[in-house]
Amino acid sequence: MSGVQKVQKEKILGKVQEKIKEGIDNYRAASDAPAKVDVYDVIEQVFAVVNPSLQDESKISVDEVSGCLRSAYLDRKDPAEPTHKQMMSKLMEKSALSILEKPLEGVIEIDSKLKLVGRADRVEDDVVMMFRTEEELPEMPHAEHFMQLNSYLHMFAKPEGVIVYFDKDGNEMEFIVPKSEKLFGETKRRARILNTLLNNNVIPALEPSTRCMGCAHNEKCFYPSEDKQKWGFWARGKWRELKAKDSIF
Ligand code: SF4
Repeated sequence: MSGVQKVQKEKILGKVQEKIKEGIDNYRAASDAPAKVDVYDVIEQVFAVVNPSLQDESKISVDEVSGCLRSAYLDRKDPAEPTHKQMMSKLMEKSALSILEKPLEGVIEIDSKLKLVGRADRVEDDVVMMFRTEEELPEMPHAEHFMQLNSYLHMFAKPEGVIVYFDKDGNEMEFIVPKSEKLFGETKRRARILNTLLNNNVIPALEPSTRCMGCAHNEKCFYPSEDKQKWGFWARGKWRELKAKDSIF
């Protein structure tokens, strides 16, 4: 190899080494940079799909009306940001039973300006099914589950439904529930109350229950600010005024 060839070969080798170094530096820079989509983004996106928030005040959902009205109001007007742990716990509960579900969306008119909307877990020819998980199998269905199932019986015109509870070991307890006009009357009454309070920006009264333990609005209810107007007694007084004014009953 001549001297000139040797110099050219060294130049080429030098350029190749520079390119390799540049490639390694780029790789390191890329791996140091935060990923564009991480697992937390995925959790937030899936949670938003599984828990869509209703903004249309002419529609009240079965879940809203059967739970704490104050929580339903705050979810719309002053939503609390759930932690990733809270989101994952809801997603895991939902996904555990989704294999049994054949969900069906329904709607029923309460009056000309208000509709009740919801999604039943499973609707068969003559029965509506609801699946829930519990730490311990209950001796009686929870009141909110009665109200939810009864709403679906009215939406899908079925005479009876079944609420099925499972514990983490797969044990099961089921309750057959007939359709109740009286309970549906109470459901409609609560939907009208929530609708009126939403339209008038009046926060509903506290509804203390075991639900408060895991509620995202817990701090707003039990560690309130100086603003006494946020308290339930004030809201109750305000509700009496609105009831008289709107005569919604
Ligand atoms: S903490 Fe209790 S009363 Fe307050 S919004 Fe939640 S469930 Fe309702």
